[in-house]
Amino acid sequence: MLQLDQNLLQELKSSILGSKNIIITTHHNPDGDAIGSVLGLYHALWEMGIGSTMVTPNGFPDFLTWLPESDKVIHFSKEKKRAQALLEQADLLFCLDFNGFGRVEDMSQTLEKSPAKKVLIDHHPDPESPFQLIISYTEVSSTAELVYEVVEQLFGPKAINTDSAVCLFTGIMTDTGSFSYACSRERTFQIAGKLIEKGVRVEQVQGLVYNNFSENRMRLLGFSLAERMKVIPEHKTAYIWLTRADLNQFKHQVGDTEGFVNYPLSIKGIVFSVLFTENDGFVKVSLRSRGDFAVNRFSQLYYQGGGHKNAAGGKSFKSMGETIEEFEELLAKHSQELNA
Ligand code: 5GP
Ligand code: MN
Repeated sequence: MLQLDQNLLQELKSSILGSKNIIITTHHNPDGDAIGSVLGLYHALWEMGIGSTMVTPNGFPDFLTWLPESDKVIHFSKEKKRAQALLEQADLLFCLDFNGFGRVEDMSQTLEKSPAKKVLIDHHPDPESPFQLIISYTEVSSTAELVYEVVEQLFGPKAINTDSAVCLFTGIMTDTGSFSYACSRERTFQIAGKLIEKGVRVEQVQGLVYNNFSENRMRLLGFSLAERMKVIPEHKTAYIWLTRADLNQFKHQVGDTEGFVNYPLSIKGIVFSVLFTENDGFVKVSLRSRGDFAVNRFSQLYYQGGGHKNAAGGKSFKSMGETIEEFEELLAKHSQELNA
């Protein structure tokens, strides 16, 4: 069991019990861990008779909309006024799966101005913003795992109902690539076991998340690997680039490229993989590595981003062509580390 600070837990518990308006939020473009954590906590609080409201900066991919009560999440991007009012009235604000206000993008000013006590529950290194309570551990597999620990230590396992378990399991499963990375601790599997005990049907969750894609998404994946992947063995690197036109050709929907960046890492000898996706006004950069090469540092240095050692993200404000050209130059600069 993770040793959480008991004083901090006590303070958190009194804050929860003494709050009238609890909001749970997460980062922009929420992934499975982000949404799984938000909903997992929401359902657990609900089980304890505590109401809360979920607000995310924007929408999330289709493969997560089956999660119980995900339709109750308010999207700041769609209902700005309502979300702003909620954040202005909040007295307790759970910030899950991100470590700085900048990660909520357009919602950051509203978040910063909110009078609520801000509680961080996260597994990224180095929290950056003034959160009042910080529960931050990089050794856990996912924020969902950490939410489980917090809930269990606050209220006992009874707080985890089946809905909460399904959401938390989805968070752990997606953030570990179905228990294939960032899960070398026994505890992650113990918690997965406890969630199964609470009613998670693993095959069903797997099917809903991974066998539920559109035909277009599958063809876009095929196209990405066949036509848009460059492998650079001398730098143990491979990258994929997708332009607006490519995405349009395959009728791209939010979340369609999720996971693409992991594929090049299956090539023998490749330790660094990057996905460049053309966006409105910037190129989204997704970085993954195997072993010691720290992609969060690479992203901080060149793409105003961050994340974990082996999974990070950021943005390039150059054109796709310039971004790729610069990237190849950077590889040469980092060749020694990549070949270490
Ligand atoms: P993804 O490549 O799936 O978008 O993100 C991978 C990891 O990097 C996630 O842990 C995510 O939180 C982090 N990340 C993604 N984009 C950014 C960004 O723009 N800034 C920072 N600091 N982290 C990011
Ligand atoms: Mn996460």
